[in-house]
Amino acid sequence: MSIAENIAEIRKNVEEARKKSPNPEQPVTIVAVTKTRTPEQLNEVLAAGQSILGENRVQELMDKYDAVNQGAVWHIIGHLQSNKVKYIADKVVLVHSLESESLAKELNQRMQALGHPMDCLVQVNIADEESKFGLAKEEVVPFLEMVSKMPGIHVRGLMNIAPFFEDTEQVRPIFREMYQLFQELKEKQIPGIDMEILSMGMSHDYQVAVEEGANMIRVGRSMFA
Ligand SMILES: *Cc1c(COP(=O)(O)O)cnc(C)c1O
Repeated sequence: MSIAENIAEIRKNVEEARKKSPNPEQPVTIVAVTKTRTPEQLNEVLAAGQSILGENRVQELMDKYDAVNQGAVWHIIGHLQSNKVKYIADKVVLVHSLESESLAKELNQRMQALGHPMDCLVQVNIADEESKFGLAKEEVVPFLEMVSKMPGIHVRGLMNIAPFFEDTEQVRPIFREMYQLFQELKEKQIPGIDMEILSMGMSHDYQVAVEEGANMIRVGRSMFA
């Protein structure tokens, strides 16, 4: 199948899943994950009307940034080292992986110098896997309170990278717990913090994620296979 056909299929699946979600009227944003893909492939993605691209490697983003056609809107979706912030601060519109004080401080400084805040999602590690990045659930509120005071950072929601399960039903409770946390934080109305975006779900489990309340999904393999 072509990239355009894959994207059409993903959109259709998202629409189906959305009907079962806790918030069926809410649109779902698809992020095309660009790691290992060529600029030619990404231009095909753009031509299919999919303009949001998410890269998790700073170097790859730098390499592709000028090579893809105009109209691309870039997100950083993977672990971001503080010392790499300077390369992407003026290139991306959303950081999915805010999860440490040092990264927050660096982003805050860089963005204040640029004169506008960076939209960020706070990465939460609900399955508590030692190998992965992200805050534990109980760390989230204090972290939000800290970053809410940083003028260079605008938190817009949460992001989760779930463990891989062959049987996607096994990931459902994790997505459900993320959605509950997202709702709780929304109700808390922490000043300066917005809870609008819940980024979770990848190629093999995005339908389950949308059914459980994700309104942003990050899809790589199934777009290019
Ligand atoms: C690679 C990656 C994805 C997409 O994974 P696929 O299985 O290719 O859809 C999503 N999010 C992050 C953070 C990734 O690194």
